[in-house]
Amino acid sequence: MRCDKGLIHSIESFGTVDGPGVRMVVFFQGCPMRCLYCHNPDTWKIDRGVEMTVQDILSQYERNRAFYEPRGGITATGGEPLMQLGFLTSLFSEAKKHGIHTALDTSGWLYRKEKDADYDELLSYTDYVLLDIKHSDPQGHIDLTGRTQEPVLAFLSKLDERHIPVLVRHVSISGITDSQQELSELGRILAHYNNITGLDVLPYHTMGIRKYHELGIPYHLEDVPAMSKDEAIKNRDIAIEAYHKERSRLSLQYGS
Ligand code: SF4
Repeated sequence: MRCDKGLIHSIESFGTVDGPGVRMVVFFQGCPMRCLYCHNPDTWKIDRGVEMTVQDILSQYERNRAFYEPRGGITATGGEPLMQLGFLTSLFSEAKKHGIHTALDTSGWLYRKEKDADYDELLSYTDYVLLDIKHSDPQGHIDLTGRTQEPVLAFLSKLDERHIPVLVRHVSISGITDSQQELSELGRILAHYNNITGLDVLPYHTMGIRKYHELGIPYHLEDVPAMSKDEAIKNRDIAIEAYHKERSRLSLQYGS
């Protein structure tokens, strides 16, 4: 199941928004989702990218190690890193041997109970997860990503069972993921898990459109304006308020 070689789209040496501290951000090639707002459509196909070994990546990390310590590490993102589960597991396991903090940025959609043993192995080397919850409504999730929501929440449960801290990320898009109902439901969903360390509501931006034009892929959100940071902050507040209300309700219900 382990695999020493993977297909990598690119590497950003000094990332500051993809996990704690300064990080080496490794963009994996391949993604099963088709989020309408995706700004990395060039990562979708699995038959692209550059072949790299675990050692190639760790050698690059070691060259800049002083910049990452003490708080940073490696973040696997994409694309969808879980598409190359064997390689990701090898990378994280080797990183841990070298005392490197590991973070996984994922939609979680590829998680399946039947593959639990493989996921247990990966998660035994995973320190932190950035989980994208694309839409709080099951049908909205399908409309936005082309994929069901259920495996994402199953993966979140799995992370909760293993006490892995999770930062949830949610892109807020006008007319799609910015209604009171959608954001409140997001807060209510998150209240049922004990491992959520934070919620980032990210404003939708239009910077990826150029790539669609270059790749000849239709872009379905041409008419949707970018969202301001202030609006995204307001939207986050709605979700957080619903989160706290639901936590109080649950604690009254279960007496904890
Ligand atoms: S999961 Fe990420 S990489 Fe994949 S389509 Fe969605 S935004 Fe793009």
